[in-house]
Amino acid sequence: MGFKELDQKYIAHSYARFDLEAVSGKGAVCTGADGKTYIDFSTGIGVDSLGFCDDGWVKAVCTQAGKLQHISNLYYSEPMVRLAETLCTRTFAKKVFFANSGAEANEGILKAARKYSHDKYGKGRHTIIALENGFHGRTVTTLSATGQDIFHQYYDPFTEGFRFVRAGDVEALRAAADGTACGILLELVQGEGGVVPLSQEFVSAAAQLCAEQDILLMIDEVQTGVGRTGKLLCSEHYGITPDLTSLAKGLGGGLPIGAVLLGEKCESVFGCGDHGTTFGGNPVVCAGANEVLRRLDQTLLDEVSEKGAYLTRRVLEMPHVVSVEGKGMMLGITLDGLESRPTAAECLRHGLIILTAKAKLRMLPPLTISYAEIDRGLEILNEVLGQ
Ligand SMILES: *Cc1c(COP(=O)(O)O)cnc(C)c1O
Repeated sequence: MGFKELDQKYIAHSYARFDLEAVSGKGAVCTGADGKTYIDFSTGIGVDSLGFCDDGWVKAVCTQAGKLQHISNLYYSEPMVRLAETLCTRTFAKKVFFANSGAEANEGILKAARKYSHDKYGKGRHTIIALENGFHGRTVTTLSATGQDIFHQYYDPFTEGFRFVRAGDVEALRAAADGTACGILLELVQGEGGVVPLSQEFVSAAAQLCAEQDILLMIDEVQTGVGRTGKLLCSEHYGITPDLTSLAKGLGGGLPIGAVLLGEKCESVFGCGDHGTTFGGNPVVCAGANEVLRRLDQTLLDEVSEKGAYLTRRVLEMPHVVSVEGKGMMLGITLDGLESRPTAAECLRHGLIILTAKAKLRMLPPLTISYAEIDRGLEILNEVLGQ
């Protein structure tokens, strides 16, 4: 039986796969089982932040795998502590809890917000205000926090205590913040929702409301975090200090990790036994993440902004392109007269891996991509859009 038939036979069909069997990769170039090479503008959905098989990252991960691959959180291990130290030194965070995915990191910030409120105000102040068109993950609770009806099917009963407002609607946000609210949960650039950046005005209003009412400002940076938008955290663009932030995707550079960043207000909210994980903080994964953060200095962050501006400028000159939205190298392309999925499939046939987000094409290239690789990818995109 061929590989694709085996996949069809044995893997649960929760994904409509594109026609690529990825075998190996280096930098922004992926090699398929068909022997063809592909420029990667997807990074496994914002995960391979240093590209495929970056030398420093491979060395860090392999060295740690040969030394100690796992030890329970009942014991100390250095890579995890170093990673937490770096995250706290370079962000607003005072403490970190490590998990294994974006959804789990979001479960962590949701639990932290509710426990903060419970500890301080007692029962009943548990409502989380989230945004319509948001996306926060696939567990039952993070689906409950996801403001898209399509995700609120089949799995009910969902977790209670979520309320949704439209991004940009400050009135509605204020109205939703009644005495039961303990947190406001936002993606600063809605990723799965179609690469939609929030306005400064709305984000500032949310931050102000949180400060006034002791509601926790919770920022889901699973996709926007770790340099993706040209700053280590996207919240730096907005000049806000969150109380809680979730990280995942790009943090590990290709291995599964999630992080709950706890700000000053709630740094001590988790005591012994209040939260836990078997794999979170795994030494091999943390060794990879340490290398990602070591490399993500101001020079690389500035390059991300510059390459994002370059990509935007070049894509805007292409046929069928109406607009390009996003920040840094998290970019969505609005097309006129073309559907996103078949266009992405056509790009793949021509040698470019590109994502979609709703009706848009979405680009999340490696943060380390070279201009030569960008140009090769753009050439393919231009050709496909011009057909
Ligand atoms: C991908 C994503 C998640 C879910 O992350 P998983 O690792 O798939 O659980 C949550 N929030 C945002 C903003 C995301 O982009």
